[in-house]
Amino acid sequence: MSSIADRIKEINASLPQGTRLVAVSKFHPVEAIQEAYDAGHRLFGENKVQELVAKKDLLPSDISWHFIGHLQTNKVKMIVPFVALIHSVDTEHLLKEIDKQAAACGRTVECLLEVHVAREETKFGFSPEEVRDLFASGAYKAYEHVKIVGIMGMASHVDDEGEIRKEFHALKTLFDEVKNNYAPAFRELSMGMSGDYHIAVEEGSTLVRIGTYIFGERLYV
Ligand SMILES: *Cc1c(COP(=O)(O)O)cnc(C)c1O
Repeated sequence: MSSIADRIKEINASLPQGTRLVAVSKFHPVEAIQEAYDAGHRLFGENKVQELVAKKDLLPSDISWHFIGHLQTNKVKMIVPFVALIHSVDTEHLLKEIDKQAAACGRTVECLLEVHVAREETKFGFSPEEVRDLFASGAYKAYEHVKIVGIMGMASHVDDEGEIRKEFHALKTLFDEVKNNYAPAFRELSMGMSGDYHIAVEEGSTLVRIGTYIFGERLYV
């Protein structure tokens, strides 16, 4: 049986230079995170505000916490003081609230826009068109305490590798378009999970978000 440390080492060895691993520790205990930390890992992703805040207080302060889940506006202020990157900004309303709370605590918070390209219907995320509009109109400049450094997306939950690749490719195309035309500061393309990160990396991912492969199945109780 390989350990958490072994699996992190294995994934890191397989990633190209410039692609980083976000160890998705949601639903796993602080002991598991500490094990990854002791193996040298510092970058973790959580998708629930309360869970993140509770774990953060029990773990070393040099961990870089990424928020990857749906974020309710009334909980923004709980994570804005310390979060390193919010991957999942899915509305302009949320952007506005992050900006407000970041200003209140004197920070500029780095964010990604969540974009839906998957075939599946999802409630969350911007369409590629909305992302283009936000940049083309200059509307994003109103949020001075938010720095949008890229986009995040998920591929459809299907076995068809061609479909998954096509969706990641669409995200990369959008990323390049925005970077080249409007946002030279774009540097992160967050895509790829346990089941599809190899494809995501081939299509240009800079942040892979991997949970199950590192920590095992999550127990939802
Ligand atoms: C849970 C989660 C992951 C990790 O998924 P695994 O399949 O366990 O690797 C990645 N991204 C998001 C947004 C998640 O919620």
